Amino acid sequence: TVGCVVVDREGHTSCATSTGGITAKMPGRVGDTPIVGAGGFADDQVGAVSTTGHGEAIMKACLARHITSVMGTGESVKSSIQNGLAHMESRIKGFGGAIAVSCKGEVGTHFSTPRMTWAYIQAGKLHYGIHPNQHVTEDL
Ligand code: ASP
Repeated sequence: TVGCVVVDREGHTSCATSTGGITAKMPGRVGDTPIVGAGGFADDQVGAVSTTGHGEAIMKACLARHITSVMGTGESVKSSIQNGLAHMESRIKGFGGAIAVSCKGEVGTHFSTPRMTWAYIQAGKLHYGIHPNQHVTEDL
C-alpha cells in the first residue's frame, strides 16, 4: 500500500490509498483500497485516514470509517487507530495498519501487522518508523 493523509491550514482533509493488492488474488478482485470507508475516509470536521492490510477484513470492518468515527468522539488519533484495529482483530481476525491526521493537525499511526513503513513531516521535522514502537525524528 501507499497511503497518504493531509490537512491544509484551513483544516480541510483528504486521503489517498493505492495498492498492488494481495498475493494470489482472484482475477477481478477489487479489494478494500478504492472503497470509501474501508481503504480511506476523510471528514473535514474530524480528519482523514488511510488503511493497509487484509482487505477483506478491512472492508467488513469499514476500518477507515470506524477510525474516523472514534476520532470524532475526541479520542487521540493513535488510540482511535488502535481501537479500529482491535475491533477488526477481535471481530474478524484481520490485521492491518493505518495512518491518520486530524483536522487540527494531530498525526497518528499504528499497525497490528509485524511492520509498516510510515513517515510524516511536521514543524520542520521528519518522523518515520517501520517496526512497532520505533519512532525516529530528524531535523530537516
Ligand atoms: N489492503 C490491500 C488489499 O487487500 C493490501 C495492501 O496493500 O495492504 O488489497
